[in-house]
Amino acid sequence: MDEALPKQPVFRFAPSPNGQLHLGHALSAILNHDMAQAKNGRFLLRIEDIDISRCTPEYEAAILDDLGWLGLDWERPVRRQSEHLDLYRGALGKLIDRGLVYPSFLTRGEIKARVAAFEAQGKTWPRDPDGAPVYPGDERSLPESERQRRFTRGTQHAWRLDMAKAVAKITEPLTWQEIGAGPQGETGTVVADPACWGDVILSRSDAPSSYHLAVTLDDARQGITHVVRGRDLFHATSVHRLLQHLLDLPQPLYHHHRLIPGEDGRKLSKSNRDTGIAAFRQAGKTPADIRAMIGL
Ligand code: GLU
Repeated sequence: MDEALPKQPVFRFAPSPNGQLHLGHALSAILNHDMAQAKNGRFLLRIEDIDISRCTPEYEAAILDDLGWLGLDWERPVRRQSEHLDLYRGALGKLIDRGLVYPSFLTRGEIKARVAAFEAQGKTWPRDPDGAPVYPGDERSLPESERQRRFTRGTQHAWRLDMAKAVAKITEPLTWQEIGAGPQGETGTVVADPACWGDVILSRSDAPSSYHLAVTLDDARQGITHVVRGRDLFHATSVHRLLQHLLDLPQPLYHHHRLIPGEDGRKLSKSNRDTGIAAFRQAGKTPADIRAMIGL
């Protein structure tokens, strides 16, 4: 009987407390909240505070304050990623055991130098959809004895997904349902292309889980049915769909929404205090003004 009941929709807004909320976040939060209300669904807030070097309790408090001021209400308790590191470690461990993830010892600086040397010859190094150079990949075949030697020496390392092996596990076309739109207007059934990201990092020495791994596991654990977020994360969905496939997790619907450009036409940044919600509050704007400013 129960199986025939339609699932109650579950939405989430998932900010990282590494800066102030800006108009783009307000759009995301309000859309999630309003869509949940319209569908008689639940609205959850998740604090994505894995990166302890950039996230602070002060930013988290300011986020809650801004969201409350905007008139939003969310379920308690709020989920904080930093309180669920075992979940991420467990999933990473499973992928390591299956040989789908390998340790990577190259530092960001070393990768950068490698790419620069290559491009100095007039050639172009492949980039991922965010424009970052794709990881070279040579540590994929590092002998086990050499890995162990470096572990013993205590060399810092990240864990990377062996993209070719992971993609080989896909048995039927990997797609998602887009109920918003991608940067090129993609909508409906979208074919995922995780390979264009190369061997993505799933865990670093200074953060036990990458954004990709934590967001995928949390969406599943929280029973999220609708992922509503900015279009800048459209291509990341390919990696999330691959991880869902590998870890046997359900797939939500995805709604990527428009971005709010800054006055100079560029993407809003958390460090740009002028477009922060707090600055508008101080300048006497009301929540209704904010809605109007973001076209709601
Ligand atoms: N924490 C991410 C951010 O602040 C959003 C994650 C998501 O919505 O999937 O950009």
